[in-house]
Amino acid sequence: MPRIVIVGGGAGGLELATKLGKKLGKRHLAQIILVDSSTTHIWKPLLHEVAAGTLDSNHDALPYLFYANHHHFEFCLGTLDGLDRMNKTIKLASIQDEARQEVVPDRNISYDILVLSVGSSVNDFATPGVKEHCFFLDRRSQSNYFHQAFIQNLLRLAHQKNESKQLPFTIAVVGGGATGVELIAELHYSLTQLTHCGLRINPEDVSLILIEAAERILAPLHPTISNMVSKDLQSKQITLHVSTRVCNVTSSGLYTQLNEFIPANMIVWSAGIKAPDVLAMLDNLEVNRNNQLLVKQTLQTTLDETIFAFGDCASCPQGDNTFVPARAQAAHQQASFLVRALGAYLKKKPLPLYWYNDYGSLISLGQHNSVGHVLTKNKIMKGKIARFAYWSLYKMHQTALHGAWRVALFTIANILSGGKKQRVKLH
Ligand SMILES: Cc1cc2nc3c(=O)[nH]c(=O)nc-3n(C[C@H](O)[C@H](O)[C@H](O)COP(=O)(O)OP(=O)(O)OC[C@H]3O[C@@H](n4cnc5c(N)ncnc54)[C@H](O)[C@@H]3O)c2cc1C
Repeated sequence: MPRIVIVGGGAGGLELATKLGKKLGKRHLAQIILVDSSTTHIWKPLLHEVAAGTLDSNHDALPYLFYANHHHFEFCLGTLDGLDRMNKTIKLASIQDEARQEVVPDRNISYDILVLSVGSSVNDFATPGVKEHCFFLDRRSQSNYFHQAFIQNLLRLAHQKNESKQLPFTIAVVGGGATGVELIAELHYSLTQLTHCGLRINPEDVSLILIEAAERILAPLHPTISNMVSKDLQSKQITLHVSTRVCNVTSSGLYTQLNEFIPANMIVWSAGIKAPDVLAMLDNLEVNRNNQLLVKQTLQTTLDETIFAFGDCASCPQGDNTFVPARAQAAHQQASFLVRALGAYLKKKPLPLYWYNDYGSLISLGQHNSVGHVLTKNKIMKGKIARFAYWSLYKMHQTALHGAWRVALFTIANILSGGKKQRVKLH
């Protein structure tokens, strides 16, 4: 029985493991193994909501081990650390506890087909001070860490206000792409909710700043969307700095290319992405300067046809000098494509080619509002309709994992219990 090893159980990898488990694993046509460095899955586009406290990550996290057991694949906890193409094995790093004691030694896993879907993390572009002084939202633990610091700072601020010793407090988000915009809007929503619920500060006690190097925020999207979103953020008293490149970060703020100093108490870095460094050390597989693996339109890596890569960690050409964007929408489509492609590969048939279908972009501006365009109708959407379309992206991911009936039942149960839920998590 051929063994298919998938490394990375994120937006794309977990959907692929689920579908292959159903198609091949259940009928013992292939052994499917999913490897991930974390014990639980959470859909990455929710991480800004975890950071702002508007989503409790415990509710939406999925434990891989139990999930795999019910979906005809195996789960292996581990971090990819090397590849031996000649012997068709991957190396997983040893697992250590918090005191750095070894729990499980490093191991090798053999494969017949290897699929890499290890995602990406934020790119600091080697800017001095970023690693030391910034928060990141690449992992659930990082979002939880930001959330705790956010709540602690608000409690400190409320106490200072009580004692009439209030100091200015600023949160700066670097990177005016979709992630940065969604985070700052969500933080504003969270602040509004907390103050309505009795925390003794006003939303204007916290300055929110969004800093973008390009001439406008959301530069890859249509200028109309950038304008609409800028106006919405400014109406919330969020300060926008565009054409502003951050060159240095300190514990008390950031310096721009003009050597202007912007004071900030908390700084989140969300400017650009790069794939994990380990990909540049995988037995000479080709990568670009962002460490993304070069793949053909079949999603096979350029130098090894038994190794596939997709999602944020792959650079996939589209035949018109463009590349598939690093988005959850692309990872979702590629997972479905790979189910067909791997089926053809196992039957030694020619592989199909992957073409990205862009269904548009939606930007969430807090819990009740979104803005975006949907390309099939080439229309700009806003407000509750756009919010509903944004929410349906997550429902598509959940449907791929749990099936339509279960998701419908979860959703109804959620709506029915909604009135009892706290709006912002405080712990
Ligand atoms: C805050 C935020 C908001 C976003 N909002 C949107 C949005 O609204 N719409 C949209 O389309 N996109 C959005 N994105 C981008 C989207 O999340 C990614 O494009 C998508 O998750 C990519 O899927 P993936 O499967 O390639 O990687 P991921 O979902 O990142 O999954 C990678 C997996 O690999 C695992 N892994 C990493 N390294 C290793 C290793 N060495 N060994 C083993 N396992 C490893 C990780 O634990 C993870 O489970 C957002 C991103 C962020 C951070």
